[in-house]
Amino acid sequence: MTVKISHTADIQAFFEQVAGLGQAEGNPRFKQIMLRVLQDTARLIEDLEVSEDEFWHAVAYLNRLGGRNETGLLAAGLGIEHFLDLLQDAKDAEAGLTSGTPRTIEGPLYVAGAPLSEGDARMDDGTDPGVVMFLQGQVFDADGQPLAGAIVDLWHANTQGTYSYFDSTQSDYNLRRRIVTDAEGRYRARSIVPSGYGCDPQGPTQECLNLLGRHGQRPAHVHFFISAPGHRHLTTQINFAGDKYLWDDFAYATRDGLIGDLQFVDDAAAAHNRGVQGERFAELAFDFHLQAAKAPEAEVRSHRPRALQDNGASMG
Ligand code: FE
Repeated sequence: MTVKISHTADIQAFFEQVAGLGQAEGNPRFKQIMLRVLQDTARLIEDLEVSEDEFWHAVAYLNRLGGRNETGLLAAGLGIEHFLDLLQDAKDAEAGLTSGTPRTIEGPLYVAGAPLSEGDARMDDGTDPGVVMFLQGQVFDADGQPLAGAIVDLWHANTQGTYSYFDSTQSDYNLRRRIVTDAEGRYRARSIVPSGYGCDPQGPTQECLNLLGRHGQRPAHVHFFISAPGHRHLTTQINFAGDKYLWDDFAYATRDGLIGDLQFVDDAAAAHNRGVQGERFAELAFDFHLQAAKAPEAEVRSHRPRALQDNGASMG
């Protein structure tokens, strides 16, 4: 018979003491959350009869996870990051804020402070032999008018599926740029076609996924932060049509309205005209539609801790 004690007054009082409820010092919000973590952890242990071995395996796992900086990756893989999007969508629906390009997860691999340029940028450092990709589009406001001066902050993986900064073999800010839209709200980038991302097969995130019987692969994709004064910050991604993982993304980032149709062109003359060696390149057009910001806080991205400096501002 399952023995349960977590509901008793003694144990509840004990958890309240542990969570610092009787202490004048500390942070009330944090105490509230910690109390709930303790209560729910105790219930989980009781209800599922978690053994001591299972519990201490989980503790060791969390140490490995943090030691490898993969906690953000696991949050994506367990769909918590996607859940946050779904919850925000539901709040938006309640508030009547449903227009514009859909949001989707940021993922853990953004690096603040990428080079900023006007209108267009070359994103790759020329060392990756991937197919050249020309990416372009327009940013529009809620009334469908082109938005000049918006910042398109974009980042993607190389042909190995790895990201600069986290992959020390790549140059600084390779495949990461911020582009200010021109008078027609347009941005243009030359880069290389990225490959899909895969979790480190030896890492703790994949270790967890293995126990769930799941793979750790993402379709090829490009991440975006889009921001402009007076407009709501947008965190989103374009995932590529035709990728085998498009609707089987371990991070659940693919959404209707966020699928990019990459067009490959095999034309030596056209390639030459565009400064491409060989005869093959790819084109991708994608526009973004922003909502008006209801308050100044809505103009900036979340204050999630990120690699390198991040003052929380998305404008510069
Ligand atoms: Fe990514």
